[in-house]
Amino acid sequence: MDFRLTAEQAAFQREVADFIESGLPARWDQGFDSVAEQMEVEREVMKRLASRRWLALPWPEEFGGLGATPMQQLVFNELMAYYRVPGLINMGVAWVGPVVMLYGTDTQKRDYLSRIADGSDIWCTLYSEPGAGSDLAAMQTRAIRDGDDYVINGQKIWTSFGHYADWGWLAARTDPDAPKHRGISTFAIKMDTPGITIRPLVNMAGTHEFNEIFFEDVRIPAANLVGEENRGWYHVAVGLDFERSSIGATSTARRSIDDLVAHIRSLPHSLSPVVRHRVADHAVSVQVLRNMCYNIASMQGSGIVPTREAQMAKLFGAELAQRVAVTSLQVFSMEGQAARAGSPAHHNQYPFLRTVANTVEGGTSEVQRSVIATRGLGLPRE
Ligand SMILES: Cc1cc2nc3c(=O)[nH]c(=O)nc-3n(C[C@H](O)[C@H](O)[C@H](O)COP(=O)(O)OP(=O)(O)OC[C@H]3O[C@@H](n4cnc5c(N)ncnc54)[C@H](O)[C@@H]3O)c2cc1C
Repeated sequence: MDFRLTAEQAAFQREVADFIESGLPARWDQGFDSVAEQMEVEREVMKRLASRRWLALPWPEEFGGLGATPMQQLVFNELMAYYRVPGLINMGVAWVGPVVMLYGTDTQKRDYLSRIADGSDIWCTLYSEPGAGSDLAAMQTRAIRDGDDYVINGQKIWTSFGHYADWGWLAARTDPDAPKHRGISTFAIKMDTPGITIRPLVNMAGTHEFNEIFFEDVRIPAANLVGEENRGWYHVAVGLDFERSSIGATSTARRSIDDLVAHIRSLPHSLSPVVRHRVADHAVSVQVLRNMCYNIASMQGSGIVPTREAQMAKLFGAELAQRVAVTSLQVFSMEGQAARAGSPAHHNQYPFLRTVANTVEGGTSEVQRSVIATRGLGLPRE
């Protein structure tokens, strides 16, 4: 494949760079004392992106996007992640919207999509349960039809940004007697519906990012069922397919390496050859990951679904992020550990703790390896 950008893509890249330079809210790169402060800035960033139709960039124009090609999206995400612009994780844009476009009613499209694309509504994803993570189809949360409503009972866990979300994208069991993949349905649920209790889970980096969420006789209109009843597993699978290129991870790692190199060059003393070699290895890996991501975007642009390639990039990117974070913390040493959230030195301490979760969220590395081995390479299961 040709890794050079077309003139049009390069012009778009300059437009995005100009926006990062002068179009963002004043405090966006000043560091945050709390996730609440970060979310406030993220909401503002979302509004500004939405005013250019960049928030839902890949969506068709009729739903508030620009119908961007995979390569345009990659150019956009690469720059935004490199400069650490907050607000990139947007589940509404990434998978709720695309699934609603495919399976939702006209009313659902009208009610949900425009408010995602204009930055009014944040969505969280209510899939995982204490007994259902890698084996997601084992979920037990029930949704029982009662007249014009469904009544939800059960518990979800690890719900990222559930405490800020306006809406939840819920998968729940509607037929307990069907084989486990066949009795699941997907729903849109307002997060302030009576009967929902949100309890914080503080991660090892000390931030309140995810939650456990309890549903006790939560009544939602039957009209909030998205797609066909008991076909939810397939909607979830299609949604996960939209979580594709790992270009964000590449850019974040590349930025960490650039910062690390600048820091090492500024030191009055030289570092051991071991550290120099390790940094060089990381720089090579970042370039490999970047090429993998460009390949994925190029395949998508040709109408090919890059399932195995995307799994490989996710696995490689998640583990690379951990390696880079460990080296950075070692080099920045005490300074890295003491820094305030968002400050340059903090970009070492926080990732050191937070990247541990990279090999768990969105599918663990063990499961990714199994899928690559069996579905990707055709190796026998046992
Ligand atoms: C930061 C973060 C954010 C998250 N955000 C969300 C969210 O917004 N919404 C949501 O629904 N979920 C979310 N999750 C949950 C995430 O999807 C699950 O943690 C993940 O799917 C793993 O499930 P589990 O935690 O139940 O671990 P388990 O599935 O119990 O796995 C435990 C261990 O067993 C291994 N294992 C399990 N099955 C196999 C197998 N078949 N072969 C080999 N090894 C196996 C795993 O690799 C792992 O090491 C988030 C998780 C994290 C860490």
